[in-house]
Amino acid sequence: MSEPVIGIDLGTTNSAVATVEEGRPRVVPSRVGGRLTPSTVGLAPKTGDRVVGVKAQELAEVHPECVAWATKRFLGRRFTPELVQEAKGVVPYALAGGPTGDVRVKLAGRTVPLTQVSAMVLGELKLDAEAYYGRPVNKCVITVPANFDDGQRQATREAASIAGLDVLRLINEPTAAALAYGLSRGFQGHALVFDLGGGTFDVTVLEVTDGVYEVKATGGDPVLGGEDFDQRIVEWLLAQVEDDAREVVRRDSLSMRRLKVAAEQAKKELTEYEETLISVGGLGDNVRGSRKPVGLETVLTRAFFEQLSDPRYRRCLEVCEAVMKEARMAPGAVDTVLLVGGMTRVPLVRRLVADFFGRQPSSEVNPDEAVALGAAIHADELARQSGAALLLDVAGHSLGVGVMGGRVKRLIVRNSSVPVLAKDIFYPGRHGQTEARIPVYQGESDLQDENHKLGEVVLHDLKGAARGDTPLEVTFELSSEGTLSVRATDLSTGLAEAVRLEARPHLPGLEADRLSQEQANYAKKQAQEDAKRSEESFRKLLERGDKLARLLQQSAQENPSAEADAAVANLGALLETGRGALEAKDTAACAQVARQLNQLLGAGA
Ligand code: AMP
Repeated sequence: MSEPVIGIDLGTTNSAVATVEEGRPRVVPSRVGGRLTPSTVGLAPKTGDRVVGVKAQELAEVHPECVAWATKRFLGRRFTPELVQEAKGVVPYALAGGPTGDVRVKLAGRTVPLTQVSAMVLGELKLDAEAYYGRPVNKCVITVPANFDDGQRQATREAASIAGLDVLRLINEPTAAALAYGLSRGFQGHALVFDLGGGTFDVTVLEVTDGVYEVKATGGDPVLGGEDFDQRIVEWLLAQVEDDAREVVRRDSLSMRRLKVAAEQAKKELTEYEETLISVGGLGDNVRGSRKPVGLETVLTRAFFEQLSDPRYRRCLEVCEAVMKEARMAPGAVDTVLLVGGMTRVPLVRRLVADFFGRQPSSEVNPDEAVALGAAIHADELARQSGAALLLDVAGHSLGVGVMGGRVKRLIVRNSSVPVLAKDIFYPGRHGQTEARIPVYQGESDLQDENHKLGEVVLHDLKGAARGDTPLEVTFELSSEGTLSVRATDLSTGLAEAVRLEARPHLPGLEADRLSQEQANYAKKQAQEDAKRSEESFRKLLERGDKLARLLQQSAQENPSAEADAAVANLGALLETGRGALEAKDTAACAQVARQLNQLLGAGA
């Protein structure tokens, strides 16, 4: 049995894990039921025990100060006053800076690095996959938004490493989605991936030729997603609270959370119905000494929700326009439009997309599962080295060298296909210099101040000659995953320095080791509990299988046929194998029989 590999969509709001079985991608169900795992993490107030997903959402109802969600917005970024300000607008929890400038979140009195938060989500998905397969699962492909920069990609890798996962490759979410839509099977032309998820919006134009995917242009808005639409509803609800009570409600994080949950629920209902009733009671009851709690009961219609969300929809179209411009294409030239992300279920989103591109978008794949399914397809290809889909991605940001006058000389322009190698010659700033610092910037501006400095390469032992006699060759090598290696060579002496740029501060080594150990201990305990639970549920499954066998046998006797006999024999053999596996305590074999039985019993994923 070859080692299972998985694809993970580590989303802002929800995450999912998928795998390929018998050539078919399928979502791995979560151990607590359902197919998506909310990217929500909490620490229990007294014990500090970790809770992830739905359980963390439940904890947030009672202890919002112990729970964080949508932290992917801040993952791999630097802790700056601007980031704190940005966070204040979208999430109620407090962020803190780590010792090396990384971003952390305050949870239940502890300060937790965001890479650990992501690791907890990844760890949960790993456990789901291990329960599904009945054995360890380590290898995965993880998806990241197309506009993630190097630092954010590295933070994702760090999270995976804490979770004990071996990342075969990080791929862009839209590219994964296109794989899930099966574009490699005979499609030629331009595909547009419209991905509106819980917290991010990405638009990507892919050119597909002979099974080769080339990302022609990507764009998006990292802070536009379903949550912003929920927030519009929350603001509208707050506007209905009496003036003197409104501030009390705003200060009550528990009430605000309840309003958010109600808003999201209403939004989802409006996908099905023309109107919905929103009813939230006890608002403001957590503020000590406050006046009597207030309640809200109101009807929201789809038409009014569409009006409320109008600025957000317009923003979506602006992004589409910008991406089309970058791809130098007219919207009508797109051959297929693929919908990704739970928000694309919203009827107005579908209408707008259809109007803008002049064609109905494809929606055969479940939009919130497409990315995980595509990641699984690619993981399977990588594991089998089949190379069925050769992914050509592009650089999400321009990369260049800081030169005199505070300017940046670009070596790799945004949207260049990767992997890519670029070289240029620079000269020291002054005559007689013995050391040259070559700063590396990421961003679209010509000015250093408006770009993000990734780091620098330092060349020592220059001869101290005249500027023009010391040509320094700088080479940028951007890998297919978007990591940048920079090499500087003093062409007059041949001396060279190379760095792999760390775009963000890593967790201190000891801390990373400690977190990995913590995660491993947690996972071990969980896996033991899961194994016990799996054994019990497998016994029950076998009993259900026996019942089905009796029914099949009965109907084979009543209506004899070769097929009926074969079905009875197959099921009998499967149950026999299952019992043998149970006796031998062969968890992998039990899990395999369980998957087959679940499918036969119609409860399969
Ligand atoms: P994703 O990040 O792809 O899981 O998307 C999650 C976002 O999709 C959240 O904002 C959800 O509220 C939203 N969403 C999920 N299902 C629906 C639905 N049926 N109607 C409207 N929005 C939905």
